[in-house]
Amino acid sequence: MKYDYLIVGSGLYGAVFAHEAKKAGKNVLVIDKRPNIAGNVYTEEIEGINFHKYGAHIFHTNNKEAWNYVTQFAEFNRFTNSPVANYKGELYSLPFNMYTFNKMWGVVTPEEASAKIEEQRKEITGEPKNLEEQAISLVGRDIYEKLIKGYTEKQWGRDCKDLPAFIIKRLPVRLTFDNNYFNALYQGIPIGGYTQMVANMLEGIEVRLGVDYFDNKAELDALAEKIVYTGPIDAYFNFSLGTLEYRSVRFENEILDQPNFQGNAAVNYTDRETPWTRIIEHKWFEFGKDKNGNDIPKTIISREYSSEWKPGDEPYYPVNDEKNGQLYLEYKKLAEQEKKVIFGGRLGEYKYYDMDAVIAAALEKAKEELNY
Ligand code: FAD
Ligand code: UDP
Repeated sequence: MKYDYLIVGSGLYGAVFAHEAKKAGKNVLVIDKRPNIAGNVYTEEIEGINFHKYGAHIFHTNNKEAWNYVTQFAEFNRFTNSPVANYKGELYSLPFNMYTFNKMWGVVTPEEASAKIEEQRKEITGEPKNLEEQAISLVGRDIYEKLIKGYTEKQWGRDCKDLPAFIIKRLPVRLTFDNNYFNALYQGIPIGGYTQMVANMLEGIEVRLGVDYFDNKAELDALAEKIVYTGPIDAYFNFSLGTLEYRSVRFENEILDQPNFQGNAAVNYTDRETPWTRIIEHKWFEFGKDKNGNDIPKTIISREYSSEWKPGDEPYYPVNDEKNGQLYLEYKKLAEQEKKVIFGGRLGEYKYYDMDAVIAAALEKAKEELNY
């Protein structure tokens, strides 16, 4: 056999595994059906701006191993995610913190903010049964109505009373003036773009792009001892047990002939009427500068629309409900019988992994597989 490993997919999972295998002295071939490497973290330079083609990606982690790992391949900038909420032209800081409470109620001290929230949460007695009740019990009705209800209903395509409470629990609520969206020790954007970072991981490794594994499966399988498959698990089995569902997002991208559209990387539109959920202005991930440190005269924005997924669409977020979870477990049983194949990553394991988690999972698997 020509290769020890054939890796299907050049996203983060495939790239990390490939890098580790090569380091362990293995012969590796990476294929991807897209015309580019890096999977969903792919960035492309347009007008001097690193454009996040498959959605904005902000690296954030508490996992020191994952942080030490990625920083071998790129230097990270000091970007901190601080989205702004736009409710019918009124602007609020996110996540919910003293700036938000001051704008909403005119309160000045944490004690006043706390009293206001206490007063408003009284309407919820007992354990919150759905997202609406959970949100009101966390931050009160005013914030729920202006900053949560419309955004959540657009994002999930259903009423807040019909959504589980846990979705909103991960948003921080702070009685301090801290606009940092993530509670993470390490955060940033790779300088030079994610694509360059992944290219560095894949250095010295043979990569074939525009190659769909299923177009030539038998031929490709014959090239390698083992396969690492990071595509959708149901596609591997030809959807024989049914189709796993995803939540989808549609991006409408525009290059504008102006230097500054909204003054921030992310603005959430939290009213129900605006059809998009948020607008990303890519240049602000890198402080508006190009790679030579010069101001960029143009800007690129992406409006994000939450949309129902249908087979054939780009699979974005796995749906972690009972029905899909069960179906995944059935596919997993089939996967366990494929002794030559490792199923990994967001699609291969049907799991909503953040980037740091996908890196940690690939490293873990590589250690187990390559015995180091
Ligand atoms: P992917 O990047 O999807 O890679 C899989 C690769 O396999 C793709 O390149 C695909 O073309 C290829 N492939 C599939 N089938 C075949 C086939 N048959 N033949 C050949 N190739 C095939 N994480 C964060 O930490 N922070 C964020 O801010 C963040 N934002 C996100 C925003 C969006 C809109 C989305 C969808 C995800 C976001 N994530 C974020 C998660 C992050 O994208 C994932 O953790 C990561 O990209 C998963 O890597 P992966 O290698 O598992 O999958
Ligand atoms: N959310 C909200 N208003 C906002 C931002 C978030 O109501 O301006 C809610 C929404 O229900 C969302 C949840 O908080 O699903 C989690 O937000 P996060 O940004 O983590 O969601 P993601 O886009 O990663 O799913």
